Parts: sequence; structure tokens; C-alpha cells
Amino acid sequence: MAKDFYEVLGVKKEASADEIKKAYRQLALKFHPDVNKSKEAEEKFKEINEAYAVLSDPEKKKQYDAFGPEGFNQRYTEQDIFRGFDFEKIFRDMGIDFGGSQFGGSIFDNLFGFSNAQQRGADVGNDILAEVRISLKDAVLGAKKSIRVRHVVKCPACNGTGSEGGRIVKCPTCNGSGQVSATRRSMFGIIQTVSACPTCGGRGTVPEKPCRSCGGTGKKVADNSLEVSIPKGVDNGTRLRLRGMGDYGRDRSGDLYIDIAVEQDKTFKRKGYDIVTEVHVPFYVFLLGGKITVPTLTGTTEIQIKELQQPSENIILRGLGVPYSNTAGNEILKLKVDIPKRMTKEQKEMIQKFASLDGKKKLFGVF
Ligand SMILES: [Zn+2]
Ligand SMILES: [Zn+2]
Repeated sequence: MAKDFYEVLGVKKEASADEIKKAYRQLALKFHPDVNKSKEAEEKFKEINEAYAVLSDPEKKKQYDAFGPEGFNQRYTEQDIFRGFDFEKIFRDMGIDFGGSQFGGSIFDNLFGFSNAQQRGADVGNDILAEVRISLKDAVLGAKKSIRVRHVVKCPACNGTGSEGGRIVKCPTCNGSGQVSATRRSMFGIIQTVSACPTCGGRGTVPEKPCRSCGGTGKKVADNSLEVSIPKGVDNGTRLRLRGMGDYGRDRSGDLYIDIAVEQDKTFKRKGYDIVTEVHVPFYVFLLGGKITVPTLTGTTEIQIKELQQPSENIILRGLGVPYSNTAGNEILKLKVDIPKRMTKEQKEMIQKFASLDGKKKLFGVF
């Protein structure tokens, strides 16, 4: 379950920007890792920052309110959430100064591991991108789709250990420490650098005998079929994100991004949250009124056309458009006049009678 950011900050959904800021400030002071050393505090601190990064940004807040925690989570990565969020500046503006904080300017790198994971030589899987084509109805109503992806997975033969039979031994290069140090002479004197061991990648262990299936890497490329839940209301170009479903990495797997392509529909056109539908109506129904059956996204419905309905006046079916948040757009019916391709002598005489009663001006058009 994705966290509810309002709950995280302990504010109501209707809270003003000021109230949100105040709540954040109090929590940030309480859980800042320089002040609060517990492990839970660090988690909590991440959470409140994530919540504030979203709720303090009008555009992200709008998206969050529209799609809810789950939907938002599928659309935004952690990096997206913090893009344009200048943590240091926000703290300064709030008058919070942690001075020589151990986290310094890179508090996010430290807390969120955006770049440090790679620097430490950690094994992080790649993010991968796939596309899924869906019908307009599935996009609007939500659906389950199965997609094929080619990605790196944990080698099933050795369960990712890279070793035949699962036996691992201490790395001979680093003697199990996972680190190697090098000394070099420079104009400043002797400099010692420590880096991740190239043999074991910093893990300190190596396979006793490399796994035959994966050659000791612990990884395999596999084609998998994944069941993806398409949330209702997605649009062409919406990007979903499945955490940890990208390439496998020992320390962290990458994410799978899925771009949604919505196919054109013969009957329905999407316009924002509304659905526009053309319906053909016999000309006499415009004059006399009557019931007609029209298509909707979920089936059909019968509607009443009023007497003397004007073709230029659209009929609005409230709430039958695209769902969003707790509401939905409308279905807009554009009416097309159906004129018969032929008529009987009797029909013609009746129309002539109608025309003569309506006065000659109408017969020749209005000039
Ligand atoms: Zn090693
Ligand atoms: Zn293997």
C-alpha cells in the first residue's frame, strides 16, 4: 500500500499550503537524522520529505489528489518526486539550520541512495521500459493486461549466489573485507584510497565453483509474461511504474516502466475527462421527440430526446465519462441528423403538406 501523504504529515485533505508547511516543519525538526538517531526516525524523515515534496508542489499535489496514493505512485518515481525540490533551501527558508550536518548538501544522496549505491559498487539492476497498447475502454475503465518483457532475473539454478550448489568462500583478493586500498604518491604526499573490491564487487565472498547456468554472475536473461493492472482513467502516454520489476540486481532491482498507448476508438473520442460520441438520429425524432438507445463506455443506455430538439445542442450524460479521483467526466452526445435515402409517395406528400403549413420561406431557405 502506498502511503497517504496527508496522513504522513498529519493534516487534513483541505489543509492550506501554510498548514502543510507548518506540519512539515514540526515533523522535520523532530525526525531529522542529526537530532533523532533511531532507525525509525530515518524512515520517517524520508517519508515526511516525500510527502512534503509532493504536497508543496501545486502540480504534483493536483495529480496526487486526482489519482490517489496508488495511482500517483505508479506515475512518479522517487526522482520525479524530488525534482525541483531544494531541500537545503526549504530548510533555510524555514529557519532551520543544522549547521555542519553530517548530511551536508547531500542529505538526499545519503538518505535515498540516489547515486551512492552505484558509487559504493553496489549491484543495482537497470530500469527497463516496455509499451502496452490498450483499447480506449480499457484505458478508461481499467484492465488487467499481460505483457512480455525481456529482463535480467535472479539465476534460478543458484538462487542468485553465482555458485554451483550455493557454496561460497571468502574472496581471496580482499580477504573478505569487500574493500581494497591503494596507495599512491602525489605532490601532496602519500594518498591512500579505498574502493570496492573488483573481484567480489564489495561483497567479500566469491562462488566456490561458478554456477554452470549463469557462469557465476547469479543472473540470467529471461522472457517473462507479467500481469499488469492498468488503473482506470489512464491516457495515451501515461507511464506506469512497477517497482523492482526491471533488471535484477543483488542490492536492488531496477524498475519496470510501462508506456501506455491507447488505440483510437470508432465510437468514442476522449477529450480531457469527457467522452464525445456521435449518434445518428432520424430527422423526425428531432421534431417529435422520442426514446433512442445510445452507446456508453460500459454498454448502452436509453435516453429521451425532447420535442423540437436542435441538432446543434449536445446532450450531456453526467458521470459517464472518464473516472478520476472520486468523480468522473461526462459523455457528450453530438447529434447527427439522419435523412432517409428514399421516401414513398405518401411520405413525400406528408412532408410537402408540412412544408406548406410552415410557410414558403422555409422551403427556399432563409435569405
Ligand atoms: Zn573481494
Ligand atoms: Zn546461477
